[in-house]
Amino acid sequence: MERDTGSEKFLEEGSAHSEEYSGDAHTHVDLIPEESARELRTLFRQLPYPIRVYLFTEKGKNEVFNRAAREIMKAFRSLSENVFLEEYPLSHEMAKSWNVERSPTILFDPEFCKIRFVGAPAGEEGRAILETLLLLGTRSSELSEQSKKILEKIDSPRNVKVFVSITCPYCPQQAADAVRAAIERPELISVEIIEIMANPDLAQKYNALSVPQTYANELLIVQGAQPEEIFMVSLQKLEAQTYFIPDSEAEQIEADLVIVGGGPAGLTSAIYAARAGLKAVIIEQGSLGGQVTITPVIENYPGFARIGGKALVHMMVSQALNFARIFQDERVLDIEQGSPLIVTTNRRRFLAKAVLLATGATYRQLGVPEEAQFTGKGVSYCATCDGPFFKGKDVLAVGGGDSAVTDALYLHNVGVKVTIVHRRDQFRAQEHLARQIFERKIPVLWNTEVKEIRGKETVREVLLWNNKSNAGRTMRVNGIFISIGYVPTKDLAEKIGVQLTPEGYIEHDSHHRTSLPEIYSAGDVEGGFKQIVTAAGQGAEAAISIYEDLISPYWKAG
Ligand code: NAP
Repeated sequence: MERDTGSEKFLEEGSAHSEEYSGDAHTHVDLIPEESARELRTLFRQLPYPIRVYLFTEKGKNEVFNRAAREIMKAFRSLSENVFLEEYPLSHEMAKSWNVERSPTILFDPEFCKIRFVGAPAGEEGRAILETLLLLGTRSSELSEQSKKILEKIDSPRNVKVFVSITCPYCPQQAADAVRAAIERPELISVEIIEIMANPDLAQKYNALSVPQTYANELLIVQGAQPEEIFMVSLQKLEAQTYFIPDSEAEQIEADLVIVGGGPAGLTSAIYAARAGLKAVIIEQGSLGGQVTITPVIENYPGFARIGGKALVHMMVSQALNFARIFQDERVLDIEQGSPLIVTTNRRRFLAKAVLLATGATYRQLGVPEEAQFTGKGVSYCATCDGPFFKGKDVLAVGGGDSAVTDALYLHNVGVKVTIVHRRDQFRAQEHLARQIFERKIPVLWNTEVKEIRGKETVREVLLWNNKSNAGRTMRVNGIFISIGYVPTKDLAEKIGVQLTPEGYIEHDSHHRTSLPEIYSAGDVEGGFKQIVTAAGQGAEAAISIYEDLISPYWKAG
């Protein structure tokens, strides 16, 4: 029988070849209640595309699961002449060409997409398989427009593994979302749904003790089930996400308060403003959370004895989203004075009664000529982002403040051989952080400056200069983490004519009013202590001032 005739081919017990199985559309339907089967047959009849399913088994290996997989897939096959089912042994060349090594494995339309189920799709997983077949029958992912937009941003392969069990009611949804992603971007996204009872070795290897658990490119991106869009963002960013920010096509948006910057100051001000009854929106051009996102560990934010920067940011953003809309990846180009203020971004314009500049600060560069050339090729400003790539390798952490010391501790903890280079003979960092450097015997080169960074494709060595002995020497390193403070992000303030301090921070009064009416500031762009908690406090203060000023405008008084 030809594959295209719409039937089944089955491996006879003990046979090394696939053999024809005479398909009877009603033989296996007893696994599906008759009433459901009737409805499903009608549904399947309307599907425009045939669905090709390949089952691979190895006799004597996982036999209970092989039998179950065979019976279940025959039951699905019996629902429609449009479902083609063939079974092959693992030794068959088709198994080799599609990299199938486990028994049982089910491939769905492998010529069109990369979706496989490893194990027997019994129990709850029957739902995931049914959904997969129906989606493949229409060749449509049926994802929301927002999800599709997120997946459009993916530009490199994603190999997804979803660990499931037949008794887990949350698993089919997670598996189906992964399948939808694979149907939407078949050229980049592959999906393996792995049933843990049939594959205990894989479950152990991936520590998939609770399901669903989802990996992409071998990174754990989700524990548990997620709403569709949050799963797609996790898949795009290759890390667990807790929130999703919908995109908006609106050309004009009215608000009481436009907050420029989504760091701790901006996020806190949004919460306070909204709680005071103002309609607040946040516009953020880069990463929400600002510098906090790249801080490995935080031990001085009240309520959290110890928390990762990203984890704190996720909580702040999730909370702020309950109060305000966030427009991410959107850059403010200009703010026109007037009533209302007109905030123009690269996407649209906002009409506002007040604007809060919470643009924060960005990392300071060393200023050696090769720094830009090797950024991303050994030079980094983010230990949490890039540190793990340097495990077992030699790197420098440059600086003597809290950032350099925190980064050096983080690098040491993840197995990087780190040496601190500091231009003076003592740290500026807090005592308890500095003490940990000495306790862990992390080497420190005092009175030393980096003068040159050398390498070919990537960093290979640095030229160091001892400013006490005036002696230079080279040192072989694979990376340099630069943590020498921050410079305010002041371009927008400067452009619209807000008065700045000689150091480039925004001039402001105790109400966080700037030199321009209805324009306020908060956070690191104001200078000061540059702590997360102070930035959050300034955001709260600014929001309260704005609320009070909008009720009784100081710019109209007298
Ligand atoms: P920082 O406190 O300003 O320290 C910058 C360090 O870099 C100083 O040691 C400075 O040397 C050195 N430096 C500056 N320019 C340099 C150059 N061109 N070449 C070589 N070295 C240079 O900056 P930070 O450590 O990034 O911290 C910024 C703010 O964030 C601070 O308020 C800090 O408390 C806060 N922060 C807190 C934590 C925490 O609490 N866990 C973590 C990170 C940051 P000198 O000492 O000689 O000036």
